[in-house]
Amino acid sequence: MQIKLSPILTDKEILQLMALLRTAKRVAICGHYGPDGDAVGAALGWAAYLKHLGKQVTIVMPNPFPDFLTWLPGSRQILFNTFQHERVAKALGDADLICCLDFRELGRIKEMATMVERAKAKLLVIDHHLGTEAMGEMMISHPEMSSTSEMVLRLIDTLGAFDDMPTEAATALYTGMMTDTGGFTYNSNNPEIYLLISMLLSKGINKDKIYRNVYWSSKESRLRIIGYVLHEKLKFYENHRASIFTLTRQELKDLQYVRGDSEGLVNMPLEVKGMRLSISLREDTEKDVIRVSLRSVDDFPCNKMASEFFNGGGHLNASGGELPFPMEDAIRTAERAIEAYRDLL
Ligand code: 5GP
Ligand code: MN
Repeated sequence: MQIKLSPILTDKEILQLMALLRTAKRVAICGHYGPDGDAVGAALGWAAYLKHLGKQVTIVMPNPFPDFLTWLPGSRQILFNTFQHERVAKALGDADLICCLDFRELGRIKEMATMVERAKAKLLVIDHHLGTEAMGEMMISHPEMSSTSEMVLRLIDTLGAFDDMPTEAATALYTGMMTDTGGFTYNSNNPEIYLLISMLLSKGINKDKIYRNVYWSSKESRLRIIGYVLHEKLKFYENHRASIFTLTRQELKDLQYVRGDSEGLVNMPLEVKGMRLSISLREDTEKDVIRVSLRSVDDFPCNKMASEFFNGGGHLNASGGELPFPMEDAIRTAERAIEAYRDLL
């Protein structure tokens, strides 16, 4: 059997996208709050394509991405609203096209939402999250896809520019696909994904090195935090089918936390046989909120739980949200959520 890439756009959509790109000279690419590997990878890959088309491109994000992504070629040019507000405002104000990547609700870019709303630019959304609300002049939405980076790769291929893709862009897109699937351990059963990976390998990417750069670049503090959480903080529920752990600012300070240290930690409780749901509650170091992360296996719907209990959303097996302080109330909310979803655990 030969595996072929299924189309990402209809013929009509291809024309619509080409028209949108043709008229744009200055483009701002925008990623979500708490940028992850997919947001950064998709933005860098899409930026490389737009630059190839001769556009003036600026990538803007609400706040910085974790340290384990700084090695990505071009990532240092990304502007963060928390540190470079003026330049971000100018990039969004001057743009005639704003590309929203890896999110489909303006709430996910926090303070930048009003800046985007007020901008004169047209909006193009490229995203793989579930949702019903429309946004922008054109929305390319594929919740069945592993990542926005996968979508960007397919789009570039569809628009006939894959041959011109530089290794750096291929590296960024692979990073996004890899991080949004936990190193191709979830959300990654579509055979076409491996065709796409082959295509990226043909560009000379070093996938083993990318893996090490992302996953094996920890600081000592990360290992200490993992040890502390697993030993002291992890609490099991429902006969080891669900778990909750918490991390307060004080604990993070004591453990010399740096951004990104707790990344992926929420997946670990799922290593216990029979576990279906893992919940992490972490006090944000920048804002007075508690960041919630949910991970599950098989058909347990994290996204439903996140929107019902945690003011958030996401994917079936990986979702997130936010709760107000204090931690005690957040724990009670998480416990109520587990209780409410007992039958699905
Ligand atoms: P994480 O646990 O890595 O922060 O987030 C996992 C996934 O949940 C993200 O890829 C994103 O799809 C979704 N997500 C995280 N935070 C939020 C949020 O505040 N609102 C919504 N709608 N989705 C979120
Ligand atoms: Mn994503």
